[in-house]
Amino acid sequence: SQALSERDPELFATLTEEQERQEIGIELIASENIVSKAVLEAQGSVLTNKYAEGYPTRRYYGGCEVVDVTEQLAIDRAKQLFGCEFANVQPHSGAQANGAVMLALLQPGDTILGMSLSSGGHLTHGAPPAQSGKWFNAVQYEVNAETLLMDYDAIEAQAVECQPKMIIAGGSAIPREIDFKRFREIADKVGAYLMVDMAHIAGLVATGAHPSPLPHAHVVTTTTHKTLRGPRGGMILSNNLDIGKKINSAVFPGYQGGPLMHVIAGKAVAFGEALKPEFKDYINQVVANAKTLAEVMVERGCDIVTGGTDTHLMLVDLRPKGLKGNVADQALERAGITCNKNGIPFDTEKPMVTSGVRLGTPAITSRGFGEEETRKVGHLISDVLDGLVEKPEGNPEVEERVRKEVLELCKQFPLYR
Ligand code: PLP
Repeated sequence: SQALSERDPELFATLTEEQERQEIGIELIASENIVSKAVLEAQGSVLTNKYAEGYPTRRYYGGCEVVDVTEQLAIDRAKQLFGCEFANVQPHSGAQANGAVMLALLQPGDTILGMSLSSGGHLTHGAPPAQSGKWFNAVQYEVNAETLLMDYDAIEAQAVECQPKMIIAGGSAIPREIDFKRFREIADKVGAYLMVDMAHIAGLVATGAHPSPLPHAHVVTTTTHKTLRGPRGGMILSNNLDIGKKINSAVFPGYQGGPLMHVIAGKAVAFGEALKPEFKDYINQVVANAKTLAEVMVERGCDIVTGGTDTHLMLVDLRPKGLKGNVADQALERAGITCNKNGIPFDTEKPMVTSGVRLGTPAITSRGFGEEETRKVGHLISDVLDGLVEKPEGNPEVEERVRKEVLELCKQFPLYR
């Protein structure tokens, strides 16, 4: 038999177990989502067999006439979705997209200015252990120490001081709206490129729930698997066709080999889904759920960094409860709720400990949770946290009770109906 279950039961078991794990747990990792069956189908297709180095109609291999159509669909839908002139859908991931932009527009040793990891930026924005931090003179900006908000005047002063060739806006733990126009003014003042990494908020940008960076940035990068609800992958967008040419050469042959045509097919499907009116309803619900969750967390005695959220995510500051992020995320995991420990800005705890957790609503909203269910989730999380305050080593009684309630909730909202 050709069935995976019979050809490779050992591997097949990991697929069924993972599906079960996703089915019976509440997923609050802000960078995760649950794709449609159509996206899964595209990714599990024969397109995985095809080499297609190059770009539609300009390939280095034969037999690309069909996948040319696939990739062109993804490109055209991306351009329509984000209202832009150029799209490269080949980056294998968000990190690859950011690396390719740097290869296209910078030289080793150039100065770049990006947000620090601890303020909410991403590793690829110039963090010391990453390629961007090692190969460039990476200067990092922080949020304002009082408000924990983006401090545009301070970023401008830093840009004037360090004269970067590229400024990077966006990140992985930014709960508030970003002013891209202001960023472009800063970039223009110092003659820098502005790269916006909208990986987290791409779905919100697609529907207008967050202002678009495209009118302002020289180049925009994103992942396709977060709020955009597509397959794991990356993408680069621009309104400047000269920059687009450089980006194409940088992605291939500069940074990658053959594109993952099955993933590009999945991207095309997801962009098609995001162009439908239902996706706007979905994103509005994601944002409404995030606001509701933040409210409950505050009602139940946690702080939320910046006091709330405009997006799909929030950073919960656990210090009012005297808890650490690592202990909290382990207890929540035992209770069937997955999230990640996350440093809060200027955190004095080590990165493996932290004073906070990051919570996001894209995945629970995909499975159908509305505000009522999200409110319940907030109370379940808070019950686990309060259980830990009582018994810092873990509180089996509370965690088991919550685990049962999580199961009940999940049963009402199956992943793939
Ligand atoms: N950029 C941002 C803002 C991200 O949050 C992430 C992933 O978390 C990435 C880039 C990297 O994406 P990937 O994990 O696909 O390489």
